[in-house]
Amino acid sequence: MENLLKFSLEKKEFEADDFVLAIGNSSWDTIENLKGKIKISNKNFAVGFRIEHLREDIDKAQYKENYKNLPSASYNLSYKAEGNKGVYTFCMCPGGYVINSSSYEGCLSVNGMSYHKRDFVNSNSAIVTSVNEEDYGDCELSALNYQKEIERKAFLLGGGNYFAPCQRLEDYINGVKSSSIGKIKPSILPGYTLTDLNLVFSSQINKRIKDGILSMGKKLKGFDYKDAILTGVESRTSSPVRLDRNEEMKSIGIENLYVIGDGSGYSGGIVSAAIDGIRAFENITKN
Ligand SMILES: Cc1cc2nc3c(=O)[nH]c(=O)nc-3n(C[C@H](O)[C@H](O)[C@H](O)COP(=O)(O)OP(=O)(O)OC[C@H]3O[C@@H](n4cnc5c(N)ncnc54)[C@H](O)[C@@H]3O)c2cc1C
Repeated sequence: MENLLKFSLEKKEFEADDFVLAIGNSSWDTIENLKGKIKISNKNFAVGFRIEHLREDIDKAQYKENYKNLPSASYNLSYKAEGNKGVYTFCMCPGGYVINSSSYEGCLSVNGMSYHKRDFVNSNSAIVTSVNEEDYGDCELSALNYQKEIERKAFLLGGGNYFAPCQRLEDYINGVKSSSIGKIKPSILPGYTLTDLNLVFSSQINKRIKDGILSMGKKLKGFDYKDAILTGVESRTSSPVRLDRNEEMKSIGIENLYVIGDGSGYSGGIVSAAIDGIRAFENITKN
């Protein structure tokens, strides 16, 4: 097993006994650079869209007549699709916005967030389905390449100017391009392009998401409302790769390289990434 002696960042070289790689889940170029140097595996992740409803409709569905006296409502819905694949809502943002989270030229991805007051007119959530090698193939980095491919499709469907591709839910279900929005206006900036989001995914993935949304509409009134807005694509739910590591959190390939956080594929979200960092610190200082 090799040892890393130094690394360079912005033309400066750093020497150390141990190195920590905590690159987050979107550092495609760094992961590609590591190919062949440390063990990297494809990892199951989840893909889909953001779904937006009127906040008032979600609040009424959750709280009934008391909704005006209560904070903006959240939800957490799931569905088991054919082939044992999950469909679920994720990172629900009550009274929040759909956020353009693109980080590579010519690619587009979305996320969501609420400001502290959670008082925007819409509420949104990711609606995603899990994907594995059946969906993206079993070659080296095929999960990462699949993530790139769907973000590229989203960029092109949006018109190639970082406007996000959007569609009314009823049109997505029926497989027709949206020509107008209804009661709900997409919140994404800098703007949106109405399109047919069926073009992003395979028919199997679209079917899973559609079946999931229709089933969730039976659990939460209005979740499958015809004017709900879908915005593409949610592709960064977690890392598409695992930087394999041993019990001490060291990479397989470079002995003194700790691989941690969301980019390692061993954490997902702020708290678990932070805990992973604390554990790495403990491992380094005990040696
Ligand atoms: C809009 C949005 C909303 C979110 N909301 C939530 C939420 O509500 N709750 C939640 O739990 N999580 C949320 N997340 C996810 C959360 O941000 C991540 O889970 C968390 O930041 C992962 O922490 P990390 O330290 O592993 O990676 P990051 O926070 O991504 O940090 C990685 C850092 O490494 C840097 N880097 C990458 N490659 C290199 C390189 N080659 N050289 C030098 N530096 C490099 C990056 O620039 C970055 O600063 C959200 C994410 C987004 C985008």
